[in-house]
Amino acid sequence: MRACFGVKAQQLISRGFFHPVSPSAVRWRAAQIRLFCSPSADEGKPGPSMLRHLTSKIKATGPITVAEYMREVLTNPVTGYYVRNNMLGPDGDFITSPEISQIFGELVGVWIISEWMGAGQPKQLQLVELGPGKGSLAGDVLRVFSQLQSVLGKTSASLHLVEVSPALSRLQAQHLTGTCSQEADAEDEPVYRRGETAAGLQVSWYRRLDDVPAGFSIFLAHEFFDALPIHKFQRTQKGWREVMVDIDPEKADQLRFVVAPSPTLASSTLIQAGERRSHVEVCPEGGVIVQQLARRIAEDGGAALIADYGHDGTKTDTFRGFKGHQLHDVLSSPGSADLTADVDFSYLRRMAGGGVACLGPVTQRNFLKNMGIDSRMQVLLRNCSDASTRKQLISSYDMLTNAAKMGERFHFFSLLHLSRLAQPKRSEGLKLEKKSPAPLPVAGFTKLSFS
Ligand code: SAH
Repeated sequence: MRACFGVKAQQLISRGFFHPVSPSAVRWRAAQIRLFCSPSADEGKPGPSMLRHLTSKIKATGPITVAEYMREVLTNPVTGYYVRNNMLGPDGDFITSPEISQIFGELVGVWIISEWMGAGQPKQLQLVELGPGKGSLAGDVLRVFSQLQSVLGKTSASLHLVEVSPALSRLQAQHLTGTCSQEADAEDEPVYRRGETAAGLQVSWYRRLDDVPAGFSIFLAHEFFDALPIHKFQRTQKGWREVMVDIDPEKADQLRFVVAPSPTLASSTLIQAGERRSHVEVCPEGGVIVQQLARRIAEDGGAALIADYGHDGTKTDTFRGFKGHQLHDVLSSPGSADLTADVDFSYLRRMAGGGVACLGPVTQRNFLKNMGIDSRMQVLLRNCSDASTRKQLISSYDMLTNAAKMGERFHFFSLLHLSRLAQPKRSEGLKLEKKSPAPLPVAGFTKLSFS
């Protein structure tokens, strides 16, 4: 198994200070939204070219939205955080569930097979992962596919990875295909890398979900939506105003939050009527991706499993940075730290629309328990006599499921084809039609029974 690197859970999960902007402050002025940690002299070096890039942009066109700031900092093709760094793991900035224990990916693999069966075992199965990081989750899922080959039978399975970072795509290729992958010749090819696993399964890499071919697919997005750019809005006496990023007039090499003096396109269109909170974050890019997933699932069948930290439309200021497993001021040294915001599942549900069924969010603890993590642990412990491996197994189980660690902070949410939950049709005499068996329960969201 992958080792559990003893991340301090509290560092991963304690966030969310909020100091409201004074309601009268509606000119371009400093917004006291929140500073998790003040910049200090010994902090990691600022990405100088990223800071220079951002300050020139702001000087040329004025303060930028938080979404534009986040997009530039994370995915700028030259200096973006994800584009340049390998940020995952004990030596990186954060660690994720698939990196903590292989059990996580194995249970997700079982979920995929279960949904494929629930859909009537289609002959083609595309596994599509958004933001695959090091490729660990996909690797663990593919191992389950190999182990359950007898169940999958002659189904033609393929893996499709949507990854914006060339550096991470190389790591994924190494992990999943060894040396058996190749970059595309032309830079603008929709499939920018292709490869084959040792078991002969085709793997393709794309920059955008749009480029993934149509067909029955199971989509996975683990800690992907939290990395997408958010807009931030503040309620003021004059109505909703967008929070922007500006240069600090007193320190030319530092950035600060300001509140837009008048409505922006985003503040006029993205706030729900009747919104009661005084600070709101909206991720329209996440909304568009969920709409694409919903359309694909409605047209071609399949399901999406989205796992992330998040809330159901209740939280306010969750924008934060991570560097070396510590909280990091989001405006300091841009490009040197991960930026993230909690996923608003109520927004994703709204954007998915009525063409698919939405399940969840359920806590990671409940999802993994419903998927049988306890039985799996018992089997692993029974077969393991090495004391230190047993200790690692127990500590990673605790990290994944403990309510005070990742167990209740992370949630699972799913989009399903409408037919998946449809009740069997009743014939005239109220007798169940023979050809319409009751749908299989959706694993993870209801308890699986092993009787
Ligand atoms: N799913 C992995 C990695 C999470 S980190 C895990 O849980 O371990 C976020 C991942 O999303 C990285 O692989 C990052 O490069 C990718 N990513 C971030 N923004 C993206 C975007 N706009 N399009 C595609 N991939 C993106």
